[in-house]
Amino acid sequence: MRIGTGYDVHRLVKGRPLVLGGVTIPFEKGLLGHSDADVLVHAVCDALLGAAGLADIGHHFPDSDESYKNIYSIELLRRSYALVMAHGYVLINMDATIFAQAPKLAPHREAMQRTMAQAMQVPADQINIKATTTEGLGEIGAGEGMAAMCVALIGPQ
Ligand code: MG
Repeated sequence: MRIGTGYDVHRLVKGRPLVLGGVTIPFEKGLLGHSDADVLVHAVCDALLGAAGLADIGHHFPDSDESYKNIYSIELLRRSYALVMAHGYVLINMDATIFAQAPKLAPHREAMQRTMAQAMQVPADQINIKATTTEGLGEIGAGEGMAAMCVALIGPQ
């Protein structure tokens, strides 16, 4: 078995949709980035790639490449997991945390799990998603951005 971690941060701005775990969530701001800036999916991709010893998301899908502009990050997850499987591994489980002051994410948790599981074609119970505020502390607490972290465990096929 092998383990990997992922961490990502994106800035929140007005005029962008908020996409987390592949789910568009109603909110007054969205995450800024070259892709759809899905901070959760980016952390998940890095955890999977890291577990397989395959560098990181920026290595495989560089933001200098125009073909990834505004790409639905679930597509990057599908491709990242295909790379992991091509190297002989499958997901055992992953556990991710989103850091966001607002909005409340619990109502969207199952949809995010289901969407990511479908992209990877794995059972949804292999994916756990949590969310926490930072109790108003720091940039995330001030609503200037969101962060996410993930730990993924993979094993031989
Ligand atoms: Mg990112």
